[in-house]
Amino acid sequence: MEFPLHFDKCRKCGSADRVGETVANELKAKGKLPAEMIYGTRVGQSLFAHPITPSLTVTVLITVYDLCAKCGLEYPTHILRQEVPVTSGLGKTGGRPPGFSGPATFK
Ligand SMILES: [Zn+2]
Repeated sequence: MEFPLHFDKCRKCGSADRVGETVANELKAKGKLPAEMIYGTRVGQSLFAHPITPSLTVTVLITVYDLCAKCGLEYPTHILRQEVPVTSGLGKTGGRPPGFSGPATFK
């Protein structure tokens, strides 16, 4: 499977308009958010690590969700796979804002 994955349209109604993205674009236009960052209404983080065997890195899937502006359905818009060093403090954060910066190819 090739990452990142992108879903451009609502699977229910087919609309490409999204609530979080629209708000983020307004703020980006005013210079209040960095243009290169991706925003949605929610960001999920799934950790894939062996429960016993130590490893230097763990695989993390970061999923950006947004709400369809037409029918309200929440759906994933971007899914990014990352290898994260175990020493990065992962899991110590008390939640992350609904946006993140990916590599240059991640749009
Ligand atoms: Zn929809």
